[in-house]
Amino acid sequence: MKRFIQGEHRSQGTLLPESLDDYVSDTNPVRVVDVFVDDLDLVNLGFDSAIPAETGRPAYHPEVLLKIYIYGYLNRIQSSRRLEREAQRNVELMWLTGRLMPDFKTIANFRKNNSNAIRGVCRQFVVLCQQLGLFGENLVAVDGSKFKAVNNRDRNFTSAKLKRRMEEIESSINRYLTALDTADRQERTSFEVKTVRLEEKIAKLKVQMKELQAIEIRLNDSPDKQVSLTDPDARSMMTRGTGIVGYNVQTAVDVQHHLIVAHEVTNVGSDRDQLSSMAKQAREAMASDSLSVVADRGYFKGEEILACHNADITAYVPKPMTSAAKADGRFNNDVFIYDEAKNQYVCPAGETLIWRFSSVEKGMKLHRYWSSKCQSCTLKLWCTPGTERRIRRWEHEAILEEMQVRLSNAPEMMRVRKRTVEHPFGTLKQWMGATHFLTRRLEGVSTEMSLNVLAYNMKRVMKILGTSSLIKALSA
Ligand code: SF4
Repeated sequence: MKRFIQGEHRSQGTLLPESLDDYVSDTNPVRVVDVFVDDLDLVNLGFDSAIPAETGRPAYHPEVLLKIYIYGYLNRIQSSRRLEREAQRNVELMWLTGRLMPDFKTIANFRKNNSNAIRGVCRQFVVLCQQLGLFGENLVAVDGSKFKAVNNRDRNFTSAKLKRRMEEIESSINRYLTALDTADRQERTSFEVKTVRLEEKIAKLKVQMKELQAIEIRLNDSPDKQVSLTDPDARSMMTRGTGIVGYNVQTAVDVQHHLIVAHEVTNVGSDRDQLSSMAKQAREAMASDSLSVVADRGYFKGEEILACHNADITAYVPKPMTSAAKADGRFNNDVFIYDEAKNQYVCPAGETLIWRFSSVEKGMKLHRYWSSKCQSCTLKLWCTPGTERRIRRWEHEAILEEMQVRLSNAPEMMRVRKRTVEHPFGTLKQWMGATHFLTRRLEGVSTEMSLNVLAYNMKRVMKILGTSSLIKALSA
């Protein structure tokens, strides 16, 4: 072992007593966690047992358990059992908790029972970022990503999946019954062995069928015709051409420093109804009067863009290409020019499409326009397969048109969106591991996501300002 750096012998006495503080450098992130939590008003945030009971065994202060969790999520240790082990052997955690070592049940119950308060802590850190002036441009990018729940795909049922399973079982039963008939015609000894085996298989399948019938009753009672057996709130949703059982996590990310300003966990697979709610949450968190929001085509929905407009939020959302006419090689609606003063359209043949009538569909007032010259038009082949080409116009269509003009004048917006909002999801998923969420139900996974977002934002701010500056700002 000569010529190598030598460690101390285990039984070596130390001349000067060492303190835990000596093992934690001044710039260690654990000091940020300590100062941040010490500064929180845990009673106001609604933490259970923040005020000790008069009687009974003293409990752990919520401050200690919160520090353990924030430390854990900063270091990719999310499970309560692993946190229990770390509290017993990890010097940084010993420093943070004053060598308190709660058991895993206490740690897990804290996360379970303080869902709202933990989400409040995450919001508190965003408020701190706002006070530190880290949100400069009043522009956020909104996006959603699917995260896996602790629910295996085999334990999630939709009507189609249930029907398929039942048909499979029925065909297996029929196959075994036919095999039973065949065995019946064979010699005595092999017949008995085969019959017993086949009868066992049929009995098992009948039990499975009964279970599926019970699930069918639950499925018919559920509003979205879907049942998840392990995590009842998880839903089957599509992501990049494949299906997962999980949750749709929405985030609004600030363009300047890529901090997650607002987040929300939903169990709705589509992003179409999320834009205005995320934008409003982001504006509140950033304490800003004006806000611009950019999102991808999946968020395009007239009512949502109108809601943003009414709330003085400037939206940038490209229109999805869903026109059947364009796909069939016919004129798209874009080539019909609207004349606001006359309330009519001008078509590619130069004819006017006048207003005919209005109707209400799914709560939206729609105006209909068409020309009476279509029958004799030379361009009809490229325009409509019907008697005449009809154009539908939503009463608030002008807001959508205004947004398209805004987008054409700011072509860089979609690149800004991509480079802002997509990578935080990649980072979060990498931290969360292959299984993503560890807890069940919407409330539990929302708490987990808040802790992940808090850890993400904390790491970003430490990177931007430096640990020492952040500790100084927190202590001020
Ligand atoms: S078919 Fe009708 S709407 Fe289409 S170009 Fe001809 S006149 Fe205009």
